[in-house]
Amino acid sequence: MSVRPWRDIERRKSRQIMVGNVPVGGDAPIAVQSMTNTDTADAKATLEQIERIAEAGADIVRVSCPTEDSTAAMKEITKFSPVPIVADIHFHYKRGIEAAMNGAACLRINPGNIGKADRVKEVVQAAKDHGCSMRIGVNGGSLEKHLLEQYGEPCPEAMVESALFHANILEEHDFQEYKISVKASDVFLTVAAYHGLAEATEAPLHLGITEAGGLMSGTIKSSIGLGNLLWAGIGDTIRVSLSAEPEEEIKVGFDILKSLGLRHRGVNVISCPSCARQGFDVIRTVEKLEKRLAHISTPMSLSVIGCVVNGPGEARETDIGFTGGGTGKDAGMLYLGGVPAEKLKNDDMIDKLVQLCEAKAAEIEAAAAAAE
Ligand code: SF4
Repeated sequence: MSVRPWRDIERRKSRQIMVGNVPVGGDAPIAVQSMTNTDTADAKATLEQIERIAEAGADIVRVSCPTEDSTAAMKEITKFSPVPIVADIHFHYKRGIEAAMNGAACLRINPGNIGKADRVKEVVQAAKDHGCSMRIGVNGGSLEKHLLEQYGEPCPEAMVESALFHANILEEHDFQEYKISVKASDVFLTVAAYHGLAEATEAPLHLGITEAGGLMSGTIKSSIGLGNLLWAGIGDTIRVSLSAEPEEEIKVGFDILKSLGLRHRGVNVISCPSCARQGFDVIRTVEKLEKRLAHISTPMSLSVIGCVVNGPGEARETDIGFTGGGTGKDAGMLYLGGVPAEKLKNDDMIDKLVQLCEAKAAEIEAAAAAAE
């Protein structure tokens, strides 16, 4: 029995597959991924973007492969990428074979859309030969015609049926290294489809709310949809789809996982909304701190609270804390390990907190290395 059972999430037991060297499913950490938006044929620009996405914390990056030039560029991209690359294939099965030959760790392809049986066989064989896994990606906006006719409109049952139809094709070719997604831009439809799919298969599930919107609205939509599923224990890898830079998708993905205690990365900043009691400008301080702490990937917590109403209580639960001294005061209290450490001037606070977080990260890393 856990000490705080209300925080426990029992993850659905899925089969584990590998996307390159990243395990997805089973008891593996929930992998966070995003997608490039450069021209894939421009290997240099694509690799530069992959580097930035990986730097933000991505475990896996997906690139579109619409042309022969793009799959040719995959050779260089997969050779130098710091993370495994998923090739996004639509329409042409040959791009799938080329991507597999050129180092893709996973193919996002729907076998039912490939066409003739011998073509499916060729793609599956290429995946087997080159150690590629696959993702079946069902999308509410592009369901098969016969399912739309049967069900009248995109609905959870149709999406699950579509996913199982593609999965069965892979199973018939004795291929189990696949994960599935059933995305829609509608939160209710997506969540219901994933619940149905989670019941119907043991395959690992890739979660996403597709075409969720801009940074703010898309984050909210994704947090509701993905949060709901993850809280129910469903989901083995996530992609937050935003009309924003891919690095933002990674940040939002981690923040969703952090909120549910499913994965931790970087400094978890706990801060109050501020009010007339604040002893310093909480909003501007947190903005500056988030920027200056973005390079830290070691999980830790920092509370930045405007006054003593909530400051000491939050500081007790965090690694490092600062509580404002109250309206008009120019100093507050620094907390280390939940205990008051010293009085700290507001003007010195940001530099000091950054320095302490960096030192804490080094300490945690050193302890982890020693334990290994
Ligand atoms: S912690 Fe203090 S400053 Fe922050 S919102 Fe609450 S009362 Fe206001």
